[in-house]
Amino acid sequence: MSHYFNNSHNRIRTIDLTFSAALLLLTVMLFLSYHIRTELAETNDRTQHTYDVIMAVDDLSNGLLQAESSRRAYVLTGNAEQKARCELFAQKTEENLREVQRLTVDNGGQQQRLAKVSELIKRKLTIFKVSLSEFDRRGYLAPQQAQLTEEGTTLMTAVRVRIDEIKDHEKQLLGERRSKEHTTLLILTVVVLSGISISIILLSLSYYIARHESRSHLVATGDLQAANRDISDLSNMTQLLQSCSTLEEARGILSCYGEKLFPDDAGAIYLINASRTLMTDTATWGAANLAPFTPDQCWAMRLGQAHATVAKSDVKCLHVEGGSGTHLCIPLAAHHETLGTLYLHVPWATEPDELARVKMRATGFAEQVALGIRNLQLREQLRELSIRDPLTGLLNRRHMEESLLREISRATRTKQPLSVVMLDIDHFKKFNDTFGHEAGDHVLKEVGQVLLKNVRDSDIACRFGGEEFTLILPDADCDTAFEIGNRIRDAVKGLNLVVGRQHVGRISISAGVAVFPVDGDTIRQLLSAADGALYEAKEKGRDRIVGSCAATRRHGDERADG
Ligand code: GH3
Ligand code: MG
Ligand code: MG
Repeated sequence: MSHYFNNSHNRIRTIDLTFSAALLLLTVMLFLSYHIRTELAETNDRTQHTYDVIMAVDDLSNGLLQAESSRRAYVLTGNAEQKARCELFAQKTEENLREVQRLTVDNGGQQQRLAKVSELIKRKLTIFKVSLSEFDRRGYLAPQQAQLTEEGTTLMTAVRVRIDEIKDHEKQLLGERRSKEHTTLLILTVVVLSGISISIILLSLSYYIARHESRSHLVATGDLQAANRDISDLSNMTQLLQSCSTLEEARGILSCYGEKLFPDDAGAIYLINASRTLMTDTATWGAANLAPFTPDQCWAMRLGQAHATVAKSDVKCLHVEGGSGTHLCIPLAAHHETLGTLYLHVPWATEPDELARVKMRATGFAEQVALGIRNLQLREQLRELSIRDPLTGLLNRRHMEESLLREISRATRTKQPLSVVMLDIDHFKKFNDTFGHEAGDHVLKEVGQVLLKNVRDSDIACRFGGEEFTLILPDADCDTAFEIGNRIRDAVKGLNLVVGRQHVGRISISAGVAVFPVDGDTIRQLLSAADGALYEAKEKGRDRIVGSCAATRRHGDERADG
């Protein structure tokens, strides 16, 4: 998960960088475009100015020519219209000259050229005036007018040369300005195109990364949600396991949560037996193989770590039978003890990423299962310790009383008989004194075994205290109780007691029987009746069984055998 967050952090940083770079580039381009546009407008203005100068210079030249031709026509024809025309063009020429001066005021070179032209034009205008006034005063005097015409022609030629110089200079300026305009346009095109291209690339890159990030985010969110679900499921399962009092109860819970966490996979939880020789299934889900196996058939048990088989070439656990796909075994370990294995069969060959996910989830499940089962086992052990007598392994007196209470209410409900037998080893003090306490303990154990061997599973055999024992025999009437009691009495008598290598002789027991409800219907009454009968058996010479129940009376005396 932290790997994802690192990558995600890097990706978000890259998006920030590329997006900011694209924005910056677009902003720079915007300013640049504005700057270039202003430059272009200025260049355009200057170009227009050049055209204006050229046109003004042309007007100047044309006006002068028009005035000259009108002058000539007037002195030849005397036509007043031509005179007026000549004066008009002369006036226009003056205006044109002023206009050209205004237009070239910022250009020193042109001003100098224009100063020369101006002198020539003024002289030419003076010739016009002289020619017209001489004609008006004296009429057409050919030599005089010819001289004026000649001088005018010379002046006009000089004016034209100067005007051509001015125009040439303006044309040169025009060329330079066009070239600059062209270069500016080229730069603008290159800048805008490359800027837009780079921005598009950067924006596409950030879009692509953002998309990838959003997909990864979706996947990570899914993973996170699944992990949260798993944690919640595991926590619920742990709670339920803690409330279980037997492994049998836990079996259903484990199957249910196995199915919940691995709905597509078959699975099983195998636990090792007390002698650590066999693995048997405790819970299964899906179509898992149920056959027991030995611990060394599972690599997870042998190695103490998860073992996965994905490809055909991978080493497979011997307990796994066929089936393509992925097989995964995870040891169940808690409190430094391996309790069994969690087996999973994913029906397809998993990719490494998926296998890692399944493994992680299965490991979490296995940890909680192992802890739950170990706690259950410990609780069972504690419970056993609390209800069993450590020397004989028989149930203790406290548990006997609880059981007796339960059996009395059951017998009341079912109206079936219930017998209680109190047994006591005869002259045990003497035995202890003769052979020692250790030999006495040995005898107590042996008698305990005799009791367990001679009663049914539903019967309850307890050590009442010291060398006294109690049997609770549900559904047993007085006859049955005597029969069982005698069987035990015979068996105890038949014990060949050897402590160390020493034969310690034989022992006998006495017993008293009480039957519910004839001899009483409470614990106290029944125990007291059985105890009374036992006392009577001792009184009557030991090694016998006595019962005050109806059956006893019917059968006569104390029903003692032997
Ligand atoms: P009776 O035939 O009247 O029952 O005689 P008894 O000697 O068996 O009876 P008594 O009550 O006088 O003595 C019981 C003896 O049982 C006393 C004690 O030394 C012995 N005993 C009680 N608990 C244990 C035990 O846990 N281990 C051993 N070795 N002896 C025990
Ligand atoms: Mg006793
Ligand atoms: Mg005794």
